[in-house]
Amino acid sequence: MKRDYYEVLGVSKNASSDEIKSAYRKLALKYHPDKNPGNKGAEEKFKEINEAYEVLSDAQKRQQYDTFGHDSISNNGSGPFQGNYTQYSGDFSNVGDIFGDIFGDIFGGKRNSESSQRRGEDLRYDLEISYLDAMNGAEVSINISRKDICSICHGTGSKDGFAPKQCPKCKGKGQVRYSQGFFSLSQECPQCKGRGNFIDKPCYECRGEGTIRGRKTVTVRIPAGVDEGTSLKVSGSGNAGPSGYPSGDLYVVIHMKQTAGFKRKGDDLYTEVSISFSQAAMGVEYDVPVLREHVKVRVPSSTQPGTVLRVREQGFPKLGRKSRGDLYVKINVSVPKSMNDAQKRALFEYAKSMGEVPKNAQFQNDSFFKKIFK
Ligand SMILES: [Zn+2]
Ligand SMILES: [Zn+2]
Repeated sequence: MKRDYYEVLGVSKNASSDEIKSAYRKLALKYHPDKNPGNKGAEEKFKEINEAYEVLSDAQKRQQYDTFGHDSISNNGSGPFQGNYTQYSGDFSNVGDIFGDIFGDIFGGKRNSESSQRRGEDLRYDLEISYLDAMNGAEVSINISRKDICSICHGTGSKDGFAPKQCPKCKGKGQVRYSQGFFSLSQECPQCKGRGNFIDKPCYECRGEGTIRGRKTVTVRIPAGVDEGTSLKVSGSGNAGPSGYPSGDLYVVIHMKQTAGFKRKGDDLYTEVSISFSQAAMGVEYDVPVLREHVKVRVPSSTQPGTVLRVREQGFPKLGRKSRGDLYVKINVSVPKSMNDAQKRALFEYAKSMGEVPKNAQFQNDSFFKKIFK
């Protein structure tokens, strides 16, 4: 069982991002493997801290975690975040980021490349789909608000093609470095805010950003078998990056809209049907409506009310696999609401053969039974 990420960092559920960062920094310094050589316990702790921080420091992942818990981000197949921290393999890339200003290059080589830092933001879109679409898969068009490349300056942010000028302070690196005793400090360049260049004559349309907010229709292919919380990644459909950097990704998070008469549990589908007393007694091959199809279910003779029959491989497809979940059909037995004389006679004969000759007032008051009893 995983520990709660907030507990791991020792912060409250509504901690600000600064509080989270500061708590992480303290713990990571304490448990860093370089400070605890050969100490397995510290290493485990360090991984746990990193895992928690990776989620809680990212607004989108944090929201997902708050809403859906560990499962939503550490599931073993469908989510976009798979493998990022469930199989944390000692890649302490975010340590490099947060300690960049303390440790400089001590963690060397593990920092994100400049382009991945400057790329456009990832976006999230919550999409509600029906059981039928989850069963069969679907293609859905969604309309999202996103930053797109400015069509006037083609993303350069510069008016009439004036090339951005290299920042003189950081010489285009976006980072400035100081030496302070043992440490080499590296900080975002205050002059160009890490861009490495500045724009002399900014584009009037995007004010030098290189991007414009607009709406875009994105077609999302929904594979059969998606479930509540499944996150589908649409690469490159997030915000366009500033100054021509690559776009972020779009994550479409699936929510299930329940269909009346059906219930989904994992990949299994539950439903109920009502059959007659004689069908239950004699057995029947029953066409069970399953969303928009029918599935033939063999109801054996002497089936008791409330019996749940399992029909293999008629549930939801398992995401990314060939197999399916099962269908569970609860059998209800209905009593006829009205009967004609022949039916009454047959039922009466049946009851008599069972030694159950009806003696109650209702049956005897019925005009038909009066004839029999007279
Ligand atoms: Zn522009
Ligand atoms: Zn600069």
